[in-house]
Amino acid sequence: MNTKYIFVTGGVVSSLGKGIISASIGKLLQARGYKVTIQKFDPYINIDPGTLNPYEHGECYVTEDGMETDLDLGHYERFTGIHTTRHNSITTGRIYKTVIDRERRGDYLGKTIQVVPHITDEIKRRMLREDEKGEDLDFVITEVGGTIGDIESAPFMEAIRQLRWQLGRNAVCVHLTYVPYLKAADELKTKPTQHSVKELQGMGIQPDILVLRTERHLDDSMRLKVASFCNVDLECVVQSEDMPSIYEVPVSMQHQGLDAAILRKIGIPVGETPAMKPWNNFLEKQRNAKREIHIGLVGKYDLQDAYKSIRESLNLAGIYNDVKAKIHFINSEEITSENVAEKLKDIAGIVVCPGFGQRGIEGKIIAAEYTRTHDIPTFGICLGMQMMVIEFARNVLGYKDANSAEMNPDTPHNVIDIMEEQKNITQMGGTMRLGAYECELVEGSRAWEAYNVQCSIKERHRHRYEFNNKYKKEYEAAGMKCVGINPAADLVEIVEIPEKKWYIGAQFHPEYSSTVLHPHPLFMDFIKTCSK
Ligand code: GLN
Repeated sequence: MNTKYIFVTGGVVSSLGKGIISASIGKLLQARGYKVTIQKFDPYINIDPGTLNPYEHGECYVTEDGMETDLDLGHYERFTGIHTTRHNSITTGRIYKTVIDRERRGDYLGKTIQVVPHITDEIKRRMLREDEKGEDLDFVITEVGGTIGDIESAPFMEAIRQLRWQLGRNAVCVHLTYVPYLKAADELKTKPTQHSVKELQGMGIQPDILVLRTERHLDDSMRLKVASFCNVDLECVVQSEDMPSIYEVPVSMQHQGLDAAILRKIGIPVGETPAMKPWNNFLEKQRNAKREIHIGLVGKYDLQDAYKSIRESLNLAGIYNDVKAKIHFINSEEITSENVAEKLKDIAGIVVCPGFGQRGIEGKIIAAEYTRTHDIPTFGICLGMQMMVIEFARNVLGYKDANSAEMNPDTPHNVIDIMEEQKNITQMGGTMRLGAYECELVEGSRAWEAYNVQCSIKERHRHRYEFNNKYKKEYEAAGMKCVGINPAADLVEIVEIPEKKWYIGAQFHPEYSSTVLHPHPLFMDFIKTCSK
């Protein structure tokens, strides 16, 4: 089968859940046996979100091949289990950089370089995944960030318009809009949707399918109204109501025939509706997981999306352990030795979050000391692991001034130090230790058990600093063991205190590889311990 292309755009307002809809379409097509990938095009000028503060666009997600990407790629991977790559996350910045580099090389000698056709051609080339010809995909789903009408997304819309013309029936446009409910009038309003579709039509794009986000159920007459005002078939108007969980969305879309509508538009026989057994089993477990356990998320970004993958990994591991992991954000900037007991009251376990820079680290260290001395399960991730290491140096090894070279380059006891290959790096973008690296586990360790006694694993990284091997012997003698080692560079990737119930720090980010059907073993084991 020739590759088919699905474009997902959004209108009216942002934050409607385009990423979830794109991931759901991917899931449903995959359940029908198709080979799918999902990619995100973001209209901002940063080359990638690696240099963005999480307050801007939420967490930075990292692919196996070491690309720093938009958090929607996390949804794509969690829903479908596919591994995305650097080709799945594109920004305006990357598009322009490619074109400008080509111009400097002389590839366009004599020509005036313009948004149309040069920028739009480069967007099209990437939408068609021309650099990835060997993939043999049935469907490429392309989500465009931002909202219709934004000045900066215009070149992406023009590229979609041209591609639709060029690809004919092999392309489908899905447009996501919002239907607000006006309380005073007790009415749902379709006018914003009509305007949004008009805007799209004004750019020469007729959507094939409309997904209406709504907080209240839309009856058939509403859908009919939208269908007739927007030139869309009634069966192609589906609604996305608020759900108790984002993982219910694919099933709701399937019930409404979203995947069938896509196939019909393309001219592929629809066939039987797949049962999605494993997915539905998961949903069943989710509905039944009622007993709550309280997990503290010790971090500095008070924003839902800042630790998206960690939150989802905890949720998923909870469900598979038949509990509901209630996550409490605990702002590390507000933690003091005086209030830590109060803040961690009723908490079954904590995650010490990743991050960069000084702000909030002393609170993380105080939390790690409290949970270590009170034997409360503790999971440190990246910076979180580094804080566990520093806490141990200060309070067990007796190095009161121990620190990370990131926070104090002249610290006398740099138990966390800059990695050798990072020392001469001056550019900030895309230069950390990124992506998947091998890690060998020490037999008999807690981590090794958690990974079902596997000896070698691969996990994704995003850091510049690391455990300082100079102190390894001292740590091990005092009870903190280095149980995961990268064999190529002899880097410590996992530390643990075996005598505690669960006190593990990982230099890597296990949260990036936890999926709905395959929750991550470390999160599974952590939650299992917390739920006892
Ligand atoms: N700031 C730390 C480092 O660069 C940790 C990074 C992180 O938590 N992702 O090593």
